[in-house]
Amino acid sequence: MNNREIFFRNIGLTSNFPLDIEIECARGIYMYAPDGKQYIDLVSGVSVSNIGHCHPAVVAAVKEQTEKYMHLMVYGEIIQSPQVRFAELLTQQLPTSLDCVYFVNSGAEATDGAMKLAKRFTRRFEICAFKNAYHGSAQGSMSGLGSECLKRNFRPLIPGTTFLPYDNFDVIQLITEKHAAVIVEPVQGEGGMIVPQKGFLKALRDRCDQTGALLIFDEIQTGFGRTGSLFRFQRENVVPDILCCAKAMGGGMPLGAFISSKNILQSLTDNPPLGHITTFGGHPVSCAAALAQLKVLLEENLISTAEAKGALFRKLLKDHPAVKEIRGVGLMLAVEMESEAAFSKLFGKLTDRGIITDPFLFNTASFRIAPPLIITERQIEECCATIRRCMDAL
Ligand code: PLP
Repeated sequence: MNNREIFFRNIGLTSNFPLDIEIECARGIYMYAPDGKQYIDLVSGVSVSNIGHCHPAVVAAVKEQTEKYMHLMVYGEIIQSPQVRFAELLTQQLPTSLDCVYFVNSGAEATDGAMKLAKRFTRRFEICAFKNAYHGSAQGSMSGLGSECLKRNFRPLIPGTTFLPYDNFDVIQLITEKHAAVIVEPVQGEGGMIVPQKGFLKALRDRCDQTGALLIFDEIQTGFGRTGSLFRFQRENVVPDILCCAKAMGGGMPLGAFISSKNILQSLTDNPPLGHITTFGGHPVSCAAALAQLKVLLEENLISTAEAKGALFRKLLKDHPAVKEIRGVGLMLAVEMESEAAFSKLFGKLTDRGIITDPFLFNTASFRIAPPLIITERQIEECCATIRRCMDAL
Protein backbone atom coordinates (compact mmCIF):
# COMPACT_ATOMS: atom_id res chain seq x y z
CA MET A 1 0.00 0.00 0.00
CA ASN A 2 1.21 3.51 -0.67
CA ASN A 3 1.37 6.23 2.00
CA ARG A 4 -1.89 7.81 0.88
CA GLU A 5 -3.79 4.54 1.17
CA ILE A 6 -2.38 3.94 4.66
CA PHE A 7 -3.19 7.55 5.64
CA PHE A 8 -6.85 7.05 4.83
CA ARG A 9 -6.98 3.56 6.35
CA ASN A 10 -4.83 3.76 9.50
CA ILE A 11 -4.69 7.40 10.54
CA GLY A 12 -7.51 8.92 12.61
CA LEU A 13 -8.66 11.93 10.62
CA THR A 14 -10.10 15.25 11.78
CA SER A 15 -12.43 15.53 8.78
CA ASN A 16 -13.28 13.77 5.54
CA PHE A 17 -11.67 16.58 3.58
CA PRO A 18 -7.98 16.77 4.54
CA LEU A 19 -5.51 18.67 2.33
CA ASP A 20 -4.53 15.26 0.96
CA ILE A 21 -1.03 16.07 -0.30
CA GLU A 22 2.15 14.30 0.75
CA ILE A 23 5.20 16.32 1.74
CA GLU A 24 8.68 14.89 1.79
CA CYS A 25 10.68 17.87 2.97
CA ALA A 26 10.18 21.54 3.81
CA ARG A 27 12.57 24.49 3.82
CA GLY A 28 11.88 28.19 4.44
CA ILE A 29 8.50 29.09 2.95
CA TYR A 30 8.38 26.00 0.72
CA MET A 31 7.17 22.43 1.10
CA TYR A 32 8.09 19.73 -1.41
CA ALA A 33 6.11 16.67 -2.50
CA PRO A 34 7.88 13.34 -3.19
CA ASP A 35 7.73 14.10 -6.97
CA GLY A 36 9.54 17.42 -6.34
CA LYS A 37 6.45 19.65 -6.71
CA GLN A 38 7.01 22.87 -4.77
CA TYR A 39 4.31 24.47 -2.62
CA ILE A 40 4.39 27.94 -1.06
CA ASP A 41 3.18 27.64 2.51
CA LEU A 42 0.62 30.36 3.29
CA VAL A 43 -0.52 28.62 6.47
CA SER A 44 2.71 27.99 8.41
CA GLY A 45 1.13 24.84 9.88
CA VAL A 46 -1.37 27.26 11.31
CA SER A 47 0.89 30.02 12.57
CA VAL A 48 3.74 27.74 13.63
CA SER A 49 6.67 28.07 11.21
CA ASN A 50 7.28 31.78 11.84
CA ILE A 51 10.98 31.65 10.93
CA GLY A 52 10.38 29.14 8.15
CA HIS A 53 10.58 25.39 7.93
CA CYS A 54 13.76 23.73 9.21
CA HIS A 55 15.59 26.94 10.06
CA PRO A 56 19.28 25.94 10.36
CA ALA A 57 19.58 27.46 13.86
CA VAL A 58 16.64 25.40 15.10
CA VAL A 59 17.84 22.20 13.41
CA ALA A 60 21.30 22.66 14.97
CA ALA A 61 19.81 23.27 18.44
CA VAL A 62 17.62 20.18 18.16
CA LYS A 63 20.55 18.01 17.05
CA GLU A 64 22.76 19.31 19.82
CA GLN A 65 20.14 18.76 22.51
CA THR A 66 19.16 15.24 21.37
CA GLU A 67 22.78 14.22 21.81
CA LYS A 68 22.82 15.52 25.40
CA TYR A 69 19.47 14.31 26.73
CA MET A 70 15.84 14.07 25.76
CA HIS A 71 13.14 13.32 28.33
CA LEU A 72 14.51 13.02 31.87
CA MET A 73 11.65 13.32 34.31
CA VAL A 74 8.12 14.75 34.59
CA TYR A 75 7.92 18.55 34.33
CA GLY A 76 9.05 20.70 37.20
CA GLU A 77 11.49 18.40 39.01
CA ILE A 78 14.88 18.60 37.34
CA ILE A 79 16.76 21.77 36.35
CA GLN A 80 17.14 21.58 32.58
CA SER A 81 19.27 24.21 30.87
CA PRO A 82 17.21 24.61 27.63
CA GLN A 83 14.06 25.17 29.69
CA VAL A 84 15.46 27.72 32.12
CA ARG A 85 17.44 29.59 29.45
CA PHE A 86 14.39 29.86 27.23
CA ALA A 87 12.19 31.00 30.14
CA GLU A 88 14.83 33.59 31.02
CA LEU A 89 15.05 35.06 27.51
CA LEU A 90 11.29 34.98 27.03
CA THR A 91 10.44 36.68 30.31
CA GLN A 92 13.09 39.34 29.60
CA GLN A 93 10.86 40.40 26.68
CA LEU A 94 7.73 40.63 28.87
CA PRO A 95 6.44 43.00 31.57
CA THR A 96 7.64 42.11 35.07
CA SER A 97 4.18 40.86 36.03
CA LEU A 98 4.63 38.04 33.49
CA ASP A 99 7.81 36.62 34.97
CA CYS A 100 6.91 32.97 35.55
CA VAL A 101 6.42 30.38 32.79
CA TYR A 102 4.51 27.14 33.23
CA PHE A 103 5.48 24.95 30.28
CA VAL A 104 3.06 22.51 28.68
CA ASN A 105 2.81 20.68 25.36
CA SER A 106 0.16 22.43 23.30
CA GLY A 107 -2.24 25.33 22.95
CA ALA A 108 -5.19 23.42 24.38
CA GLU A 109 -3.17 22.52 27.45
CA ALA A 110 -2.04 26.14 27.84
CA THR A 111 -5.57 27.59 27.78
CA ASP A 112 -6.87 24.75 29.92
CA GLY A 113 -4.10 25.33 32.46
CA ALA A 114 -4.71 29.09 32.39
CA MET A 115 -8.41 28.64 33.16
CA LYS A 116 -7.61 26.19 35.96
CA LEU A 117 -5.10 28.64 37.36
CA ALA A 118 -7.66 31.47 37.33
CA LYS A 119 -10.20 29.28 39.12
CA ARG A 120 -7.66 28.23 41.72
CA PHE A 121 -6.37 31.77 42.30
CA THR A 122 -9.71 33.58 42.45
CA ARG A 123 -11.67 30.71 44.07
CA ARG A 124 -14.43 31.40 41.53
CA PHE A 125 -15.44 29.07 38.72
CA GLU A 126 -17.21 31.02 35.97
CA ILE A 127 -15.32 31.85 32.79
CA CYS A 128 -16.16 34.54 30.26
CA ALA A 129 -15.26 33.82 26.62
CA PHE A 130 -16.29 35.21 23.23
CA LYS A 131 -18.38 34.10 20.29
CA ASN A 132 -16.28 32.56 17.49
CA ALA A 133 -13.36 32.05 19.87
CA TYR A 134 -11.09 29.03 19.56
CA HIS A 135 -8.92 28.01 22.49
CA GLY A 136 -8.30 24.32 21.74
CA SER A 137 -10.04 21.01 21.62
CA ALA A 138 -9.57 19.38 25.04
CA GLN A 139 -12.70 19.49 27.21
CA GLY A 140 -11.59 22.48 29.32
CA SER A 141 -10.43 24.57 26.39
CA MET A 142 -13.42 23.43 24.33
CA SER A 143 -15.67 24.86 27.03
CA GLY A 144 -14.44 28.28 25.86
CA LEU A 145 -15.16 27.48 22.21
CA GLY A 146 -17.46 30.11 20.78
CA SER A 147 -19.37 27.88 18.36
CA GLU A 148 -22.24 25.69 19.49
CA CYS A 149 -22.11 23.60 16.34
CA LEU A 150 -18.61 22.25 17.09
CA LYS A 151 -19.17 21.52 20.78
CA ARG A 152 -22.84 20.49 20.96
CA ASN A 153 -22.09 16.78 20.75
CA PHE A 154 -19.57 16.90 23.58
CA ARG A 155 -21.76 18.41 26.28
CA PRO A 156 -21.80 18.56 29.23
CA LEU A 157 -18.63 20.65 29.25
CA ILE A 158 -17.49 22.97 32.05
CA PRO A 159 -20.49 24.78 33.52
CA GLY A 160 -20.68 28.53 34.06
CA THR A 161 -19.19 29.80 30.80
CA THR A 162 -20.57 33.12 29.51
CA PHE A 163 -20.16 33.99 25.83
CA LEU A 164 -20.08 37.64 24.83
CA PRO A 165 -19.98 39.09 21.32
CA TYR A 166 -16.39 39.94 20.39
CA ASP A 167 -15.37 43.57 20.03
CA ASN A 168 -18.58 44.86 21.59
CA PHE A 169 -18.10 47.49 24.29
CA ASP A 170 -21.77 47.43 25.37
CA VAL A 171 -21.65 43.95 26.92
CA ILE A 172 -18.48 44.29 28.97
CA GLN A 173 -20.60 45.08 32.05
CA LEU A 174 -21.78 41.45 31.93
CA ILE A 175 -18.38 40.48 33.32
CA THR A 176 -19.00 40.29 37.06
CA GLU A 177 -17.49 39.37 40.42
CA LYS A 178 -18.59 35.80 39.70
CA HIS A 179 -16.06 35.38 36.90
CA ALA A 180 -12.72 33.75 37.59
CA ALA A 181 -11.39 34.85 34.22
CA VAL A 182 -12.02 36.44 30.87
CA ILE A 183 -10.25 34.55 28.10
CA VAL A 184 -9.79 36.36 24.80
CA GLU A 185 -7.72 36.28 21.62
CA PRO A 186 -6.26 39.76 20.98
CA VAL A 187 -6.97 39.04 17.29
CA GLN A 188 -9.54 36.30 16.66
CA GLY A 189 -7.81 33.74 14.46
CA GLU A 190 -10.38 31.09 13.60
CA GLY A 191 -13.14 33.68 13.55
CA GLY A 192 -11.39 34.86 10.35
CA MET A 193 -8.67 37.26 11.56
CA ILE A 194 -10.91 39.73 13.38
CA VAL A 195 -8.97 42.68 14.81
CA PRO A 196 -10.93 44.38 17.59
CA GLN A 197 -11.31 48.15 17.72
CA LYS A 198 -8.67 50.06 19.59
CA GLY A 199 -9.61 50.21 23.25
CA PHE A 200 -11.52 46.92 23.40
CA LEU A 201 -8.73 45.00 25.15
CA LYS A 202 -8.17 47.97 27.47
CA ALA A 203 -11.88 48.02 28.34
CA LEU A 204 -11.65 44.31 29.20
CA ARG A 205 -8.60 45.03 31.37
CA ASP A 206 -10.47 47.79 33.22
CA ARG A 207 -13.52 45.60 33.81
CA CYS A 208 -11.33 42.74 35.08
CA ASP A 209 -9.66 45.16 37.48
CA GLN A 210 -13.09 46.28 38.74
CA THR A 211 -14.41 42.73 39.22
CA GLY A 212 -11.28 40.83 40.23
CA ALA A 213 -11.54 38.46 37.26
CA LEU A 214 -8.18 37.52 35.75
CA LEU A 215 -7.57 38.56 32.15
CA ILE A 216 -6.19 35.74 29.99
CA PHE A 217 -4.81 36.58 26.56
CA ASP A 218 -4.69 33.62 24.20
CA GLU A 219 -1.74 34.61 21.98
CA ILE A 220 -1.34 31.10 20.65
CA GLN A 221 -1.90 32.27 17.10
CA THR A 222 -0.83 35.92 17.40
CA GLY A 223 2.39 35.24 19.30
CA PHE A 224 6.03 35.28 18.28
CA GLY A 225 5.95 38.13 15.82
CA ARG A 226 3.07 37.29 13.52
CA THR A 227 1.23 40.57 14.03
CA GLY A 228 4.30 42.83 13.96
CA SER A 229 5.22 42.75 17.65
CA LEU A 230 6.47 39.78 19.65
CA PHE A 231 3.00 39.58 21.22
CA ARG A 232 -0.07 41.52 20.16
CA PHE A 233 -0.73 42.85 23.67
CA GLN A 234 2.55 44.77 23.54
CA ARG A 235 1.20 46.86 20.67
CA GLU A 236 -2.09 47.45 22.47
CA ASN A 237 -0.34 48.34 25.72
CA VAL A 238 -2.64 46.15 27.78
CA VAL A 239 -1.02 43.55 30.03
CA PRO A 240 -2.95 40.34 30.80
CA ASP A 241 -2.76 38.46 34.09
CA ILE A 242 -2.07 35.26 32.19
CA LEU A 243 -0.56 34.90 28.72
CA CYS A 244 -1.06 31.67 26.74
CA CYS A 245 1.45 30.65 24.06
CA ALA A 246 2.01 27.62 21.85
CA LYS A 247 2.20 27.06 18.06
CA ALA A 248 5.19 29.17 16.89
CA MET A 249 6.73 29.06 20.35
CA GLY A 250 8.67 25.82 19.72
CA GLY A 251 10.13 26.80 16.33
CA GLY A 252 8.36 23.77 14.81
CA MET A 253 8.58 21.54 17.88
CA PRO A 254 5.58 20.97 20.19
CA LEU A 255 5.56 23.41 23.11
CA GLY A 256 3.07 25.57 24.96
CA ALA A 257 2.99 27.69 28.09
CA PHE A 258 0.84 29.79 30.34
CA ILE A 259 2.74 32.68 31.78
CA SER A 260 1.83 34.77 34.80
CA SER A 261 3.35 36.27 37.93
CA LYS A 262 5.14 34.02 40.39
CA ASN A 263 2.49 34.96 42.94
CA ILE A 264 -0.44 33.82 40.80
CA LEU A 265 1.33 30.70 39.51
CA GLN A 266 2.26 29.71 43.05
CA SER A 267 -1.38 28.77 43.60
CA LEU A 268 -0.89 25.65 41.44
CA THR A 269 2.23 24.70 43.40
CA ASP A 270 0.91 24.80 46.89
CA ASN A 271 -1.92 23.63 49.14
CA PRO A 272 -2.41 21.12 47.61
CA PRO A 273 0.72 20.80 45.47
CA LEU A 274 0.62 19.38 41.93
CA GLY A 275 -2.31 21.53 40.77
CA HIS A 276 -1.21 20.90 37.21
CA ILE A 277 0.99 18.01 36.15
CA THR A 278 2.51 17.28 32.76
CA THR A 279 5.00 14.60 31.76
CA PHE A 280 6.36 16.15 28.59
CA GLY A 281 5.59 19.87 29.15
CA GLY A 282 8.68 21.97 28.47
CA HIS A 283 10.45 19.09 26.71
CA PRO A 284 14.17 19.91 26.56
CA VAL A 285 14.41 19.42 22.79
CA SER A 286 11.38 21.69 22.23
CA CYS A 287 12.84 24.30 24.58
CA ALA A 288 16.22 24.18 22.81
CA ALA A 289 14.39 24.75 19.51
CA ALA A 290 12.31 27.53 21.09
CA LEU A 291 15.39 29.31 22.42
CA ALA A 292 17.11 29.12 19.03
CA GLN A 293 13.99 30.44 17.31
CA LEU A 294 13.47 33.32 19.73
CA LYS A 295 17.08 34.41 19.23
CA VAL A 296 16.57 34.41 15.44
CA LEU A 297 13.34 36.40 15.79
CA LEU A 298 14.99 38.99 18.01
CA GLU A 299 18.35 39.22 16.24
CA GLU A 300 17.24 39.14 12.60
CA ASN A 301 14.69 41.92 12.88
CA LEU A 302 12.00 39.74 11.34
CA ILE A 303 9.13 40.88 13.50
CA SER A 304 9.28 44.46 12.33
CA THR A 305 8.85 43.32 8.70
CA ALA A 306 5.50 41.58 9.26
CA GLU A 307 3.36 44.68 8.84
CA ALA A 308 4.94 45.87 5.59
CA LYS A 309 4.75 42.36 4.16
CA GLY A 310 1.11 42.08 5.15
CA ALA A 311 0.44 45.47 3.56
CA LEU A 312 2.05 44.26 0.32
CA PHE A 313 -0.25 41.21 0.20
CA ARG A 314 -3.24 43.51 0.72
CA LYS A 315 -2.12 45.95 -1.97
CA LEU A 316 -1.59 43.21 -4.53
CA LEU A 317 -4.87 41.39 -3.92
CA LYS A 318 -7.46 43.88 -2.71
CA ASP A 319 -8.64 45.19 -6.10
CA HIS A 320 -9.37 41.77 -7.60
CA PRO A 321 -13.14 41.46 -8.21
CA ALA A 322 -13.21 38.01 -6.50
CA VAL A 323 -11.98 39.57 -3.25
CA LYS A 324 -14.70 40.91 -0.98
CA GLU A 325 -12.57 41.99 1.94
CA ILE A 326 -9.11 41.50 3.45
CA ARG A 327 -8.92 41.49 7.26
CA GLY A 328 -6.20 41.04 9.81
CA VAL A 329 -2.91 42.50 10.88
CA GLY A 330 0.72 41.83 9.96
CA LEU A 331 1.08 38.40 8.39
CA MET A 332 -2.15 37.18 9.93
CA LEU A 333 -4.60 37.89 7.12
CA ALA A 334 -7.94 36.58 5.87
CA VAL A 335 -9.06 37.09 2.28
CA GLU A 336 -12.85 36.94 2.15
CA MET A 337 -14.52 35.75 -1.05
CA GLU A 338 -18.15 35.96 -2.15
CA SER A 339 -19.06 32.51 -0.77
CA GLU A 340 -17.74 29.22 0.55
CA ALA A 341 -18.34 27.74 -2.92
CA ALA A 342 -16.14 30.43 -4.51
CA PHE A 343 -13.34 29.66 -2.09
CA SER A 344 -13.69 25.88 -2.64
CA LYS A 345 -13.19 26.41 -6.38
CA LEU A 346 -10.22 28.69 -5.80
CA PHE A 347 -8.71 26.30 -3.28
CA GLY A 348 -8.37 23.50 -5.86
CA LYS A 349 -6.75 25.85 -8.35
CA LEU A 350 -4.32 27.23 -5.76
CA THR A 351 -3.26 23.75 -4.67
CA ASP A 352 -2.69 22.74 -8.31
CA ARG A 353 -0.56 25.85 -8.81
CA GLY A 354 1.48 25.11 -5.69
CA ILE A 355 -0.05 27.39 -3.06
CA ILE A 356 -1.15 25.96 0.26
CA THR A 357 -3.85 27.83 2.15
CA ASP A 358 -6.93 26.89 4.15
CA PRO A 359 -10.21 28.35 5.38
CA PHE A 360 -11.05 29.23 9.00
CA LEU A 361 -13.03 27.18 11.48
CA PHE A 362 -15.75 29.83 11.68
CA ASN A 363 -15.40 31.48 8.29
CA THR A 364 -15.26 29.14 5.34
CA ALA A 365 -15.64 31.84 2.69
CA SER A 366 -12.24 33.28 3.67
CA PHE A 367 -8.76 31.90 3.22
CA ARG A 368 -5.64 32.34 5.27
CA ILE A 369 -2.51 34.28 4.39
CA ALA A 370 -0.12 33.52 7.23
CA PRO A 371 3.21 32.54 5.65
CA PRO A 372 6.51 32.30 7.53
CA LEU A 373 7.69 35.82 8.41
CA ILE A 374 10.83 35.24 6.33
CA ILE A 375 8.86 35.49 3.08
CA THR A 376 10.48 38.09 0.79
CA GLU A 377 8.79 40.88 -1.20
CA ARG A 378 9.63 39.08 -4.41
CA GLN A 379 8.06 35.85 -3.15
CA ILE A 380 4.95 37.81 -2.11
CA GLU A 381 4.71 39.33 -5.59
CA GLU A 382 5.05 35.93 -7.27
CA CYS A 383 2.55 34.39 -4.92
CA CYS A 384 -0.04 37.16 -5.42
CA ALA A 385 0.38 36.97 -9.21
CA THR A 386 -0.46 33.23 -9.00
CA ILE A 387 -3.43 33.86 -6.69
CA ARG A 388 -4.77 36.50 -9.10
CA ARG A 389 -4.39 34.17 -12.09
CA CYS A 390 -6.32 31.47 -10.19
CA MET A 391 -9.02 34.02 -9.30
CA ASP A 392 -9.23 35.13 -12.95
CA ALA A 393 -9.95 31.53 -13.91
CA LEU A 394 -12.89 31.12 -11.51
N1 PLP B 1 -5.83 28.99 20.81
C1 PLP B 1 -5.82 29.49 19.57
C2 PLP B 1 -6.06 30.95 19.37
C3 PLP B 1 -5.61 28.65 18.48
O1 PLP B 1 -5.61 29.16 17.24
C4 PLP B 1 -5.37 27.28 18.71
C5 PLP B 1 -5.16 26.35 17.59
O2 PLP B 1 -5.48 26.61 16.46
C6 PLP B 1 -5.38 26.79 20.04
C7 PLP B 1 -5.62 27.69 21.07
C8 PLP B 1 -5.16 25.34 20.33
O3 PLP B 1 -3.83 24.98 20.10
P1 PLP B 1 -3.44 23.44 19.95
O4 PLP B 1 -3.95 22.98 18.62
O5 PLP B 1 -1.93 23.43 20.04
O6 PLP B 1 -4.08 22.69 21.06
